[in-house]
Amino acid sequence: MDGVVLRQVNVNKNYVEYKFEARGKLKNYFTTDKMFIEYNTDISQIPVSILTIPFVASILPLMWVTDTVLWIEEIDRTFYDATYRLKEAYQNLYNYYPLKGNFISARYVNNTYDVTRESLLLFSGGMDAHTTYIRHIDTDPILCNIQGWYKSLEDTDKAADADYRDISKFAEIEGRQFEFVKSNFAVIVNAKCFDKHIKKKLGDTWWHGFNHSMGFISIAIPLAYKFGVKNVYIASSVPMGEYVHCASYVSTDGEFKFAQSGGCVHDGSELTRQDKAHVIVEHVNKLNRDYPIRVCSFNDKNCCACDKCFRSVLGITAEGGDVRKFGFDIEGSLKDFYEKEMETNMVLHRVEGEGSLHWPAIRQRMKDNYDLLNDEQKEFVDWFMTYDFIGKRKKAIWEHRFKDFFKIIANRIKNK
Ligand SMILES: [Zn+2]
Repeated sequence: MDGVVLRQVNVNKNYVEYKFEARGKLKNYFTTDKMFIEYNTDISQIPVSILTIPFVASILPLMWVTDTVLWIEEIDRTFYDATYRLKEAYQNLYNYYPLKGNFISARYVNNTYDVTRESLLLFSGGMDAHTTYIRHIDTDPILCNIQGWYKSLEDTDKAADADYRDISKFAEIEGRQFEFVKSNFAVIVNAKCFDKHIKKKLGDTWWHGFNHSMGFISIAIPLAYKFGVKNVYIASSVPMGEYVHCASYVSTDGEFKFAQSGGCVHDGSELTRQDKAHVIVEHVNKLNRDYPIRVCSFNDKNCCACDKCFRSVLGITAEGGDVRKFGFDIEGSLKDFYEKEMETNMVLHRVEGEGSLHWPAIRQRMKDNYDLLNDEQKEFVDWFMTYDFIGKRKKAIWEHRFKDFFKIIANRIKNK
């Protein structure tokens, strides 16, 4: 039977390595026969049936979509039972794609642990994670950042390093326990092979459709077990009312259970993005210090210019927040900065999508809160409300094509 057999679980202090064998048609679906996780805390006393959870969750959906089998030696009983409901929840999400396959363990272990605290929060440092942190700040959450894109332990990753630097600093200022985890869980499945055979029918990639949520939550479980945490918290990124397929979903994440008492909370899906900006600004207004948030996907600090940065600046301003306190180092006035950005780089800004999806809620809050804003914010909001984004964008695209057209003609003449 085609499938995967977990051959060995090797544990050394804070490091765990899973050696596995892929059989039959699954051979092509893997880039390696080893998955590793390096925690920054000793995990050698944690039962193997708990330590196996991250490996199982990181690849089990591949068995579901390929109708193959995963064999292992031992697993936590509560988690094993939960995989049935997890599969059912994913089946409801992808109701047009039959999820099959099987998961067989030679032994089931009834683990228990003493719950001494409520929360461990998967923390990326973005707006969603900060909102969940603030909402549950009274529970003194452990902050946990997991990086899964390392091919080996020696591998370097600039974005991960920046996350480590920023989040450990944040945890120190806030006085929270910080757990940093390095793994290759995001690169063990061959994405190209998945794309070729599954993506079209599933309508999603391996990473976005299954892997990220299953990997992140499950890798946090041994930490939750060790530190007596009741729930792993993951911040929602899909608000209620938006029907988007994504591995991290309120109906699926909540099905994670382990060691009888442990679970997972997918937090904040009842909030819109603008509600989250409100939660954060309200919190920071009470603090008498800066509260840097990194939202930028392209840099190790906020570039302030990309669509995501611009959206966050708009959202924070609409709630009356001073964006410079939030890690957006903008020189000159907000209006001057963004007017110049739009005049010079409009071709790079996808204002059509931003304008229809994100801006309506922001504009509404700008109207509601206008009287609370300072002069600089009012000038910026006035500009934003009246600026002809769509018209300028059309013109910029046309000019861009026009320039390209002449470049092509000029090249042709030159090459003749
Ligand atoms: Zn940016």
